Amino acid sequence: MPRIEILTIGDELIEGRLVDTNACELSDKLTGVGLRAREHRSVGDDTADMVEALRTAAGRSEAVLVSGGLGPTSDDLTALAAARAFGLVIERLPEALEHTRRFFTERGREMPATNEKQADLPVGCTILPNQEGTAVGFRLDAGSCRLYFMPGVPRELQRMADESVLPDLRRRLAASPPLVATLKLFGLGESEVAQRLEGIEEGLTDELELVVQYRATFPEIHVRLVLEGDHGTPSAVLDELAATARQRLGRHVFAVGGARVETDFPETVATTLDGAGMTLAAAEEASSGALARFMGSSDAGRRVFLGGLVAANPNVLGAQLDAADVSAESAADAIRRRFGSTIGVAALGAADGDGGRRAGVLTVAAVSPVETFSKELHFPIDRDRFQRLAAYAALKLVDRIVSNRG
Ligand code: ATP
Ligand code: MG
Repeated sequence: MPRIEILTIGDELIEGRLVDTNACELSDKLTGVGLRAREHRSVGDDTADMVEALRTAAGRSEAVLVSGGLGPTSDDLTALAAARAFGLVIERLPEALEHTRRFFTERGREMPATNEKQADLPVGCTILPNQEGTAVGFRLDAGSCRLYFMPGVPRELQRMADESVLPDLRRRLAASPPLVATLKLFGLGESEVAQRLEGIEEGLTDELELVVQYRATFPEIHVRLVLEGDHGTPSAVLDELAATARQRLGRHVFAVGGARVETDFPETVATTLDGAGMTLAAAEEASSGALARFMGSSDAGRRVFLGGLVAANPNVLGAQLDAADVSAESAADAIRRRFGSTIGVAALGAADGDGGRRAGVLTVAAVSPVETFSKELHFPIDRDRFQRLAAYAALKLVDRIVSNRG
């Protein structure tokens, strides 16, 4: 496995004002193409520190991915440090200047003089276009190492990594991605999931190794089955493992796919509703609007979600809806009538108890013209997670109405 390092640059990172999501994102992208970062390192906006870090990394690695410090301000010193580290000369490169200028003219603006500095790059480097911002990236070779310099702004970095860096890395380092299947689920705890998947690798031949990875994106759990071994392992082996896992995890699984599965549970429910030509409205106390926000995050959700009411108190919600009583069922039914949607859903309760109510008790209900489902759950967790969970639990009942996941 070739050695690859990630170097992120910025005072904000080492002073603790910013979480280094770029290193994480880049590592994840590497793993996705069968490569692996050996080390993450961060240094501040200090030329000497950068020079040392770049030299050290280049001296022992096949590739270095660098993030940050390509902007036009005085603390953006990465290009200068790269030149100093490898004995290169900085010049204003016409190609880079043109790139930045085009970014402005395409948006009907003049390029400010300060941005010209972004075109001052080490002579001999190859420019990596930035489709999302003004700072061009670049790559250069130092000995047998290739270094890729990307902007710090995550959106710019991600696109540059996808479109320029990873394709080049793969060509050079000829990685063959491991076989990966992802299962996303909601409704089981992580330990329960682990228990159910125990021994799933039994029967695999000795040359193959199955690594089961868990990621919790609360309240979803994502399971990745990574099959490592000989080149040319038939993907049927992985398909079979994924099918077994799915069967063991049952109706809690809402999405299955390859290395990357983008959809989350709310989107899955919205897509099912959309496919069935159904619409949804929500009365939200427990979820504080989280359900509406989830619906607004996908195309399908925006099509099927007609609207809702949010209140911090069940009595206010009941009064607003002229509901028969202050129960999740009657709130769900009332919101359905109010918005004329196929299904109405409601989530009542709060993480912290008040007015005689118990803390962490959640009641959810979903009502269609022909069915009513409701459920009471108890989750002693903080507010933010309680709200997310309330939205998910409510959507699970909607899912029960529209799909046959049970
Ligand atoms: P710009 O043209 O915006 O100055 P730049 O390449 O100079 O881009 P930086 O100045 O290092 O990038 O960072 C710009 C912003 O990008 C930071 O303020 C921060 O919000 C974000 N950022 C930088 N590095 C990281 C990182 N490692 N992880 C997450 N976000 C980051
Ligand atoms: Mg900057």
